[in-house]
Amino acid sequence: MVSTQLPGIRDERVLEVMSRVPRHRFVDPALWPQAYSDYSLPIGAGQTISQPYMVALMTESLRLSGGEKILEIGTGSGYQTAILAEFSARIFSIEREPSLAQRAREILSELGYENVVIMVGDGSKGWRQFSPYDRILVTASAPEVPYSLVEQLSDNGLLVIPVGERDHQVLKVIEKKGREVVADDICGCSFVPLIGEEGWPG
Ligand code: SAM
Repeated sequence: MVSTQLPGIRDERVLEVMSRVPRHRFVDPALWPQAYSDYSLPIGAGQTISQPYMVALMTESLRLSGGEKILEIGTGSGYQTAILAEFSARIFSIEREPSLAQRAREILSELGYENVVIMVGDGSKGWRQFSPYDRILVTASAPEVPYSLVEQLSDNGLLVIPVGERDHQVLKVIEKKGREVVADDICGCSFVPLIGEEGWPG
């Protein structure tokens, strides 16, 4: 993954990390020849590993400085999780499909990431036990911003989430400032649905 494939990504640290994390290890060997192309790929259970450009854009939008505690919703293959783990000491990640969560645990452990905890469950309600989080990243799309996620965000925290219709959404950055919540639109996007109590019905 090189910078020419990620146009518009300006954060050098994101480009450097994306050039190092081996994306092919997060997909089936039959897909290795396509692993460094800029598109999503199937990972089983009807889910996909996100497009590298989108992973880079979401990571950049989190404005990480290094010490943040991060909650990720939608572990999927674990690829985005690995990118986050390169930046931060503590990653909590939730995946609803047990087979994907297990595979992600195995590959992240094989690659030496020890700062990641993955839970199987409905991430639309967040993970209250370890809240508040400095950053929350949702890699599946919700009809509205889940209230529980805003609640579990720390003061001055950021939530990055695709919000909109089932087949097309807007990637949003939500910033919590005391009692105020400020939302910025980043770009149009198309993610698989966030299925759960504060997402779409299954
Ligand atoms: N970022 C991942 C990667 O790099 O492989 C891809 C994530 S995939 C686009 C979205 C994931 O969200 C799927 O694995 C899906 O099972 C999961 N998901 C959907 N609803 C969820 C929920 N309520 N809680 C946790 N995970 C959920």
